[in-house]
Amino acid sequence: MPPLRFSDWDLPPSIQTAIDSQGWENPTEIQRDAVPPARSGEDIIGQARTGSGKTAAFGIPIIERVEAKGSPQAIVLCPTRELATQVCEELKWLQGDLGLSILPVYGGTDLEKQAAKLDNGVDIIVGTPGRVIDMTKRGHLDLAAISILCLDEADRMLDMGFWPDISWIVGNMPERSQTLLFSATFPQEIIDATEEFLTNPVTVMSEDLEVEVPEIDQKWIRIGRANKLWAVGRILSHMDDDDQCLIFCNTKRMVELLDERLSKHRFECSTLHGDMSQNKREKVMNGYRDASVRVLVATDVAARGLDVDGVTIVINYDLPDNPEDYVHRIGRTGRMGRSGTAWSFVGREDLLQLDRIRSTWSLTIYQVEAPELPESVKRDPIRARMDWSESSDPFGMVRISISAGSSIIRSTLQLSDWIIENAKVKELAIGEIQISDDNTFVDIHSESAQRVLEIIERREFEGQRLEANLAIR
Ligand code: AMP
Repeated sequence: MPPLRFSDWDLPPSIQTAIDSQGWENPTEIQRDAVPPARSGEDIIGQARTGSGKTAAFGIPIIERVEAKGSPQAIVLCPTRELATQVCEELKWLQGDLGLSILPVYGGTDLEKQAAKLDNGVDIIVGTPGRVIDMTKRGHLDLAAISILCLDEADRMLDMGFWPDISWIVGNMPERSQTLLFSATFPQEIIDATEEFLTNPVTVMSEDLEVEVPEIDQKWIRIGRANKLWAVGRILSHMDDDDQCLIFCNTKRMVELLDERLSKHRFECSTLHGDMSQNKREKVMNGYRDASVRVLVATDVAARGLDVDGVTIVINYDLPDNPEDYVHRIGRTGRMGRSGTAWSFVGREDLLQLDRIRSTWSLTIYQVEAPELPESVKRDPIRARMDWSESSDPFGMVRISISAGSSIIRSTLQLSDWIIENAKVKELAIGEIQISDDNTFVDIHSESAQRVLEIIERREFEGQRLEANLAIR
């Protein structure tokens, strides 16, 4: 059977033309299964992750039903303003020349201006729950007249504590005749709400009810804080012209620091975090969307709703505290059939968390070394540092191996005295020494290790030049 085409659906010409001009030919899976029943007015529960084409899955039937009459007939609720903006943009082009007024209603923007726009008359509202309630209570929005309700990313709205607000909104929509609910996961609260809010819904599910993990290469590198920047440099030096990279940090502070450091090493990047003004955030997001920004450093919250198909590389500079965030983060890449790679930097203190993430989602994440430099790049863009803290034991000791055995180093005392005198370290900084036939191991406190290594390499011991290296244990 030939694949289904949008033109098989007999859509209103303005929607069909808009879809054509976007270059879309075939509906995605969620669109194929959700659009027909939604067009005939049924309630829908859809399992869909970001990137599946869900916006058009609810957008097409909503636009088809709404008329340009200047009174709100449909409302789409989203967890974040970024997602609301994006949904709004997509609905706007999707309607073609129908002339519907589609308005985003979310916090952080001028209340008065938004109120004035609402008072002017709108047909479709796309908003975040808090501001929608606010506008309703102030009398600028009449929920009672709206017949179609759509909940986008319902699970994230639940996570973000919006559920009481949603109940309030639903409770104030007596004329609601169709409800469309989309979610990547279905925790019990959503299943309960579904029973309460929806009437004989058509269920559109993916094969399994788990969070869908996109087909992407997941890799982790064992690396301490000191060398994460070096590893970023290695990864970025492999970027092609059509790659885009998203780097996640756990705090705003870290986002800023990384931005500073990358800029110092002449990597162009932008940042996205919660302390930025809405204006600035939108500018950055647009830059990332039109690919003028190729590397973006962000926190989880700021990146919610960031929907860019070109992301080919995700770097977890910090491993997320919450396993759920890992899946959301890596889901930013490998979208719409593109391949992607997710790198996670894992220090000694993150190993347990990595296990938690792996076991929560039964993921296969391969341990690898940082990538080699591409042939065309002669020098590391950011130099590696000896990272003693990653190699030390719980007492802060690291092990050094020396290329000389008992024929040269006659006793542990002789060696420790030599180190104390030449490297000017305290006796306490030297731990166990093991001398064998052809090499010697010395435990040194990590703070003194670099100096001891240098001194052993630079000065002669009993008239001999020795080699010393960090020993892996
Ligand atoms: P969404 O899951 O709605 O955020 O959509 C993800 C991306 O896929 C967006 O950039 C859409 O514009 C794009 N998209 C949605 N449906 C289709 C389709 N049928 N064909 C091609 N691209 C699509």
